[in-house]
Amino acid sequence: MAGHEGAWEPLAVQAGSVAEAIGRREPCVFRQRAAHWPAVAQWTWERLGALAPDLPVRLVQGNRELGATVFQSSTLGAYLQSLQGPAATGKVPMYLKEFDLLGTFTPLRADVRPQELFPPGALHDSQTWIGPAGARTGLHNDYLDNLAVQLVGRKRFYLLRPGVVERLGAVAAKHDRWAALASLNADAVVDRGVVAGDAWAVDLEPGDVLYVPARWWHEVVNHTPSVLLSGFFGARATVYAQWVWRQAVHGAHLAGLWRRGHCTCHPARG
Ligand SMILES: [Zn+2]
Repeated sequence: MAGHEGAWEPLAVQAGSVAEAIGRREPCVFRQRAAHWPAVAQWTWERLGALAPDLPVRLVQGNRELGATVFQSSTLGAYLQSLQGPAATGKVPMYLKEFDLLGTFTPLRADVRPQELFPPGALHDSQTWIGPAGARTGLHNDYLDNLAVQLVGRKRFYLLRPGVVERLGAVAAKHDRWAALASLNADAVVDRGVVAGDAWAVDLEPGDVLYVPARWWHEVVNHTPSVLLSGFFGARATVYAQWVWRQAVHGAHLAGLWRRGHCTCHPARG
């Protein structure tokens, strides 16, 4: 992303409550708000890899939001082993995404405190993104609000205000169950022109919490091997309405009626 750094303004650090920030509907970072969670101090690659070394996992190759959708099978133990030690150069990063770590290994729930972050009464669903340095999620926006908690390692979020990608005609036709995708990467969008307040960047350290409002575009890249806990949330009626809508769209996709062969959930035809 060299050469574009000046276009990205540093994201505001929020000192107040998460609820206040959600009320303003602007992205912000809460530095070290989760630093006291046991996961931040205690989760290591060795510990996570020892949970179930032979558990099959499906890895995503490279940037499936922008490029082709390619999957690779591995096991949890082998994959987490691969994240230790020096980074592999010249290899396309493999990414374990939307992994239900806390549902698969329920004792780990004692190591996190999501109830401290989510608004009372909100429905929320947290999954983990586990990957090496360089692993990237292409530019997209989600239909629900999100709170992202950095547990291990460091990563960068690039954020673009709703409407910026739409104005450029760069909303992709590719289907994703829970998100709208862009046909450009984040730097290409800023190259085509943004105004003050449109483009923000933030580096997350272990213990940091980021609020990404629904419909804000974001592209995410790991600086180091990283574990992110990411939770979509909303009021019951909002979540339910979104769920019904996305189920209908995704049902049409699975039936072959919508964006067949052009999606993040099935391998690209080659
Ligand atoms: Zn699909």
